[in-house]
Amino acid sequence: MPDHQSKVSMIFLDAAARGRLMLPRCGDCGKHNIPGDPTCAFCGSFRFDWVTVSGRGVLFSYAVVHHVLDASLAHEVPYVVALIRLEQGPIIVSRLVGTEEGQQPQVGAHVKVVYQVTGQHVLPVFTPTSHHPQLITREAPQGGAQGAANRARPPQTGS
Ligand SMILES: [Zn+2]
Repeated sequence: MPDHQSKVSMIFLDAAARGRLMLPRCGDCGKHNIPGDPTCAFCGSFRFDWVTVSGRGVLFSYAVVHHVLDASLAHEVPYVVALIRLEQGPIIVSRLVGTEEGQQPQVGAHVKVVYQVTGQHVLPVFTPTSHHPQLITREAPQGGAQGAANRARPPQTGS
């Protein structure tokens, strides 16, 4: 039987391969959690449902990686490791791609998920959406169906 961590990675990577970003949502308090935690960070529950989320968020923090230990990533340096605060609340570690040449990523910039093939896996990574300011000013509140219908979003399930 796979341990908790590998089960979580499997769900997360399977979803990414299907073009979805999924998060564990607490079966008791309903809050979204970071993939990998064995219990809900808010109420301690062990019950999680995996739900597809919008993949939108803001850049919370980042670091530019110039030297890698993993040879398979050597051709990618420099790359940006980022903390992304998803609109559902959790902050996840990912990568930021698609920043324009010579531009520093901006903390607070709106980002959205895109999918990158890395070796045998498809990984969710994030790209700035700030060059589409009209999308930012009309951001719908979380779960609001009205504004969301006008924007291109991945299919929502499990809500
Ligand atoms: Zn909870």
